Amino acid sequence: MEITRENRKWLDDLQLSHPLVIAGPCSAETEEQVLETAHALKDSDVTMLRAGVWKPRTRPGSFEGVGAIALPWLMRAKKETGLQIAIEVGSAMHVKIALQYDIDVLWLGARTTVNPFLVQEIAEALNGTDKVVLVKNPVNPDLSLWLGAVERLQAQGIKNLGVIHRGFSTYRKTDYRNNPQWQIPIDLKSKHPDLPLICDPSHITGNREMIFDVCQTALDLRFDGLMVETHPTPEQAWSDAAQQITPSTMIQIMEDLRIRKKDF
Ligand code: PEP
Ligand code: MN
Repeated sequence: MEITRENRKWLDDLQLSHPLVIAGPCSAETEEQVLETAHALKDSDVTMLRAGVWKPRTRPGSFEGVGAIALPWLMRAKKETGLQIAIEVGSAMHVKIALQYDIDVLWLGARTTVNPFLVQEIAEALNGTDKVVLVKNPVNPDLSLWLGAVERLQAQGIKNLGVIHRGFSTYRKTDYRNNPQWQIPIDLKSKHPDLPLICDPSHITGNREMIFDVCQTALDLRFDGLMVETHPTPEQAWSDAAQQITPSTMIQIMEDLRIRKKDF
């Protein structure tokens, strides 16, 4: 796989003087929740609002997302705040629906990246898109499977690419929800230095108290950005309540992080 500066042009064109920050709720829940989050983040270093619309859950029976009704809410948030919009797609059908809206970034989740057939279908549904497509690592610590998903997108003419490190499942419980195994993103970065690399401390930690430290580690390792789950009332979130932080905590974290300015 050949990744060149062309693949990171979308990020360079943002001309940020700091790492890219994508923030927003695990799940879009209501129009009010989406708008409240977006307005609270709009005058900060956050560039993109994330929200899960379709939620891939490990086991059935928990909240699976409100679905496509959230897309107009996100469009309203974009219009009112100027934030770019990022959502997860997990099937070719999701892609077809999402492409009817002015969504800026689509990402593949960890439970999608593990499945080459699904990735292939999504890549074909995205054929030639100039939207930014980000690929989370698969749930298991398999760098080839992660890169394979990026290759499938590239083969469909998708140029605006990036990857998101969200840690890896373990059977035995550790302090992390998903073990970061930092060596894997470090290897990826050394093989493909022009592939934008974003850290998701929310799914790595599963715990809001640990978010800051993982953000700092990622920046020390020269990641290009962060994706952090942010909710107006995290304890009441419909998914991933333990790991979400408020917009004001997010803004405080961005102020407190040590950033190597010369890198940006
Ligand atoms: C999410 O971003 O809310 C999500 C489901 O993440 P992951 O695919 O990393 O588990
Ligand atoms: Mn989540």
